[in-house]
Amino acid sequence: MTPAVVVVGAGPVGLLLAGDLAARGVPTVVLERLTEPMTESRASTLHTRTMELLEERGVLDRLGPLPDGGPGHFGGLRLDLTAADPAHRWAGQWKCPQTRLEAVLQERARDLGADVRRGRRLVALRDRGGDILVESVGTDGHRERLTCAHVVGCDGGDSTVRRLTSLGFEGSAARREMLRADVAGLDIPDRRFERHPRGLATAHRWPDGSTRVMVHVFGTAPARRPGPPAYAEVVSAWAEVTGEDIGHGTPLWLNAFDDTRRQAVGYRRGRVFLAGDAAHVQMPVGGQALNLGLQDAAELGTRLPDGDLDGYDRVRRPAGARALADIQAQSSLLLGGPEVEPMRQLFADLLELGSVQRHLARRISGVGATPPRPPASAVEKERGEPRPPVIGTEPPAIEENPRNSSNRRSVMSRLTGKTALVTGSSRGIGRAVAQRLAEEGALVAVHYASAEDAARETVESIERDGGRAFAVRAELGVPGDVHELFLGVEQGLKERTGEAALDIVVNNAGVTTPAGLQPEDVTPEEFDRLFAVNAKAPFFVVQRALPLLREGGRVVNISSGLTRFASPDQVAYAMTKGAIEQLSLHFARHLAPRGITVNSVAPGITDNGSALFDIPEAVEQMAQLSAFKRVGRAVDVADVVTFLASDEARWITGAFIDASGGTLLG
Ligand code: NAP
Repeated sequence: MTPAVVVVGAGPVGLLLAGDLAARGVPTVVLERLTEPMTESRASTLHTRTMELLEERGVLDRLGPLPDGGPGHFGGLRLDLTAADPAHRWAGQWKCPQTRLEAVLQERARDLGADVRRGRRLVALRDRGGDILVESVGTDGHRERLTCAHVVGCDGGDSTVRRLTSLGFEGSAARREMLRADVAGLDIPDRRFERHPRGLATAHRWPDGSTRVMVHVFGTAPARRPGPPAYAEVVSAWAEVTGEDIGHGTPLWLNAFDDTRRQAVGYRRGRVFLAGDAAHVQMPVGGQALNLGLQDAAELGTRLPDGDLDGYDRVRRPAGARALADIQAQSSLLLGGPEVEPMRQLFADLLELGSVQRHLARRISGVGATPPRPPASAVEKERGEPRPPVIGTEPPAIEENPRNSSNRRSVMSRLTGKTALVTGSSRGIGRAVAQRLAEEGALVAVHYASAEDAARETVESIERDGGRAFAVRAELGVPGDVHELFLGVEQGLKERTGEAALDIVVNNAGVTTPAGLQPEDVTPEEFDRLFAVNAKAPFFVVQRALPLLREGGRVVNISSGLTRFASPDQVAYAMTKGAIEQLSLHFARHLAPRGITVNSVAPGITDNGSALFDIPEAVEQMAQLSAFKRVGRAVDVADVVTFLASDEARWITGAFIDASGGTLLG
């Protein structure tokens, strides 16, 4: 078989990916250095989201019943992971030895047609433009060359693929380490992250009678040693921390892990991708490394060979960065000495709060993260004929719709943990605002009046990109409008976060009068409607949001460049926008004591996707109004709103921000 994809590394990540690709009929070869699967115990914890992924693929059926992993922890402080979603069928965490998971995933990948070749070491990769040449050496020294369309490095923290691709791996070196061992013949009490004056100790009796011990002596740096620690080291550290002698035990497995934290600067370079530990290494605390890696694989498996390939990096790298930052915080709480006691106490107090439990549990267990679409044969029905290999063909370039394209940020999300309401976000500027806020990590309430399909599309596009959103319907400008809106917003927020707190409100929904309508022709009914939707509703939206807005919140009101230059046919509309600017000004002062900023953003002519913008002559004419000689894109405005919503804009309030591409410059 000529492979379309070569996966390097037959750990759980590589094997899940290979199975997913094979399930979709993509010819896949897996190259693995080891001749036999590993037998040592490593990661064993599966979180809710991973359980869903495994279930969707029929892997849970193959694994059989898994034991409940009990409550989780955050930096050694008890954290009930079921709090993420107590009603979820996989709430909590589950135990499955990595060896067992690997065996089942390998069996599945092979059953589906993936070619898993063991005992082959990758030695060279050459991207030849149209394809990529992969060279490996077998245990007998025999060299083999494969040509394929894509290579995925699932080959661990020391990834050869990453090295051969020269992808940077940035972060921080280890500062602390934990020794661990499985030991037979011990009779010591079980203990969970027990802190002693000199260090931290954990002991857990396995069903076979052996005991897993883990120990860290506060303040000790990782030792430089060529292999695993000697048992004598574990014995000595254990005695120093607990005062107990475990020297009589028989070590079955010895290992040390540290808090090295690194992430690849990109998860893709050309035809090469990274997943799992090859893309990110972190302290293996609470099983997050395995779960993150499997979630990487599931995401990539839906995109290769010819989907939105850049989307993989866009979705998974921020998710990895967030998890790495959380794990670093956990590492400090767990392995820090007496100096972290006040911080631990503070965290312990915070963890008493249901909303904090829920928030952290969701972050760890992946609940609420965008589910990558399961592979075509999700439950592994009959596999169809394999599709022809795509050797030598460039994946079709994904043309982003220029109306919506944005230079997506590669830094960590600025609005993670925030919630937002964007009125009128089913389409146009509002949709772009909702997408950008979600891209930065906010959970967004996508409001609309009647265009239900468009609102659903907005939500789906956000979820596809790894964000979170839900739709809320309410017609504004009619009696009871704001009440109805907030019923939906509060319910949506409560369902997803456990509380109805808002950080960002964007008053965007608006109506205009038809172009060319002379002031003489404006009827009182039209005038009232314009004011009801564009001015009155935003006022009461802000008023109603006040009790929900958190300290440091943000209100952005969408005005118009028309408040700064005359266009008689839009006088009534412009008056409504003048009113909304007053709303910003006065509320800015009113809300400043709570750290809430209120600002107006004034777009010029902006392509909102309406039919007018499909007429080149009209666009050309409108473009002349901007100093840049083009019409605005929705994302041009959305980027400004997103900035105002971020912490970086904390010193701006009561301001009018022109986002009209220099329309006012003459
Ligand atoms: P758009 O494409 O026309 O979309 C309007 C949005 O507002 C839709 O989501 C619509 O929901 C919602 N909406 C309209 N009337 C509503 C009502 N009565 N109740 C609830 N929701 C309602 O708008 P846009 O052009 O992107 O403009 C967005 C904002 O920017 C507006 O405030 C507008 O005045 C301002 N603006 C736009 C431009 C421009 O050139 N585009 C220039 C300056 C200022 P449905 O989809 O359900 O109908």
